[in-house]
Amino acid sequence: EMSCCDAGAMSVQEALNTMLAQITPVSECVTVSLANSQGHILAEDVLSPLNMPPFDNSAMDGYAFRFAEWVEGQALAIAGTALAGQPFSGEIPAGACLRIMTGAQVPAGLDTVIMQEHTAQTSEGVLFTQSPKAKANIRYLGEEIRTGDVVLKAGSRLHARALPLLATLGLPEVNVRRRLKVAIFSTGDELKLPGTSLQAGEIYDSNRYGIEAMLNRMGIECLNLGIIPDDPAQLRDTFMQAAQSADAIITSGGVSVGEADYTKDLLLELGEVGFWSVAMKPGKPFAYGKIREKYFFGLPGNPVSAFVTFYQLVQPALRKLAGEAFVAPLRIPAIAEHNFRSAKNRVDFQRGVISVNADGLITVRSTGAQGSGMFTSLCAANCFVIVEQDVPAGASVTIELFNEIVS
Ligand code: AMP
Ligand code: MG
Repeated sequence: EMSCCDAGAMSVQEALNTMLAQITPVSECVTVSLANSQGHILAEDVLSPLNMPPFDNSAMDGYAFRFAEWVEGQALAIAGTALAGQPFSGEIPAGACLRIMTGAQVPAGLDTVIMQEHTAQTSEGVLFTQSPKAKANIRYLGEEIRTGDVVLKAGSRLHARALPLLATLGLPEVNVRRRLKVAIFSTGDELKLPGTSLQAGEIYDSNRYGIEAMLNRMGIECLNLGIIPDDPAQLRDTFMQAAQSADAIITSGGVSVGEADYTKDLLLELGEVGFWSVAMKPGKPFAYGKIREKYFFGLPGNPVSAFVTFYQLVQPALRKLAGEAFVAPLRIPAIAEHNFRSAKNRVDFQRGVISVNADGLITVRSTGAQGSGMFTSLCAANCFVIVEQDVPAGASVTIELFNEIVS
């Protein structure tokens, strides 16, 4: 059951914890081919069907031999050649060696490879110009992965680093959670589509474009319901349609306390309110709840507020709903290039640019005017500067680099 917290703004951490504790991931799974698996969330652990490497093989172009048979200054006769994909199947007599290329199977019994650059050819065979090290230059069967090892955990997102790992294990398909479908719409009588002309008092709807772009990068299907005027009947219809067709609903605007802010009343009428206000800047009015058993996220109308609350609050909630294991964003210290003023009683997610100074240290500066309607300072940024108290120039401040969904 959701508890309503009208009383005061909730901390960002508490808001996150509340959502993450209440959201149950979608349970349906689908099998996708390896080639189409990018961005999907693994539904189950992946166990290795193979040892990796699958056989002892040479890490170098050179010569394989038995270390115990090597005598300083004595050449080894070459008994044959092994190439990648073309193993040598003969016998290597005592005191002889095998010419071997990188990736070629090392025959049983040979235990050391010397690299070609440390050898010289003589009429008797190969002479080592440097002392070999026992067992060197062989990649041993199973030294990285044993059959049955868990190589990727359920809840992992399949990114460019995971795909070649699945391929190297020979797995042609994987079991993943089904994709989420999320409905979005903007609310406001003043909003018009880019490409149309503006009448007095009107502005272009910008919020949906950032939200849809971030959803796309998260691998989420977006049901874009457009602009809905500040009309309770139309809003109610749209909420019902969205709740029928999607796993979650995201709106922007109409969540504060103005005369045309109907979202809260509709949420109370059609569903449950989880919380209504989060102690962050930009942001503060941010609604979380449920409509007809579907999760609802009501973003503030101010464009940068909508963007930042989506990034900081809705992104982790949707990742949980998609079945992704939670990983807290990496926050690191940087040197403030100038002073940063904090917002009273709210965590301020300012937009900044990090650099590396002449001493090799990470520094951060603001991208300029930080108004909650100002996209230029958001667009120019590569990180959040998380300001919880005033920070003087030269002191340490916490930053969070933007991740792939906005980059
Ligand atoms: P609201 O939360 O509806 O009171 O809106 C707060 C401010 O954000 C107002 O200045 C709105 O005009 C503006 N706004 C609301 N929705 C959007 C939108 N989708 N795109 C751009 N600005 C918006
Ligand atoms: Mg509005």
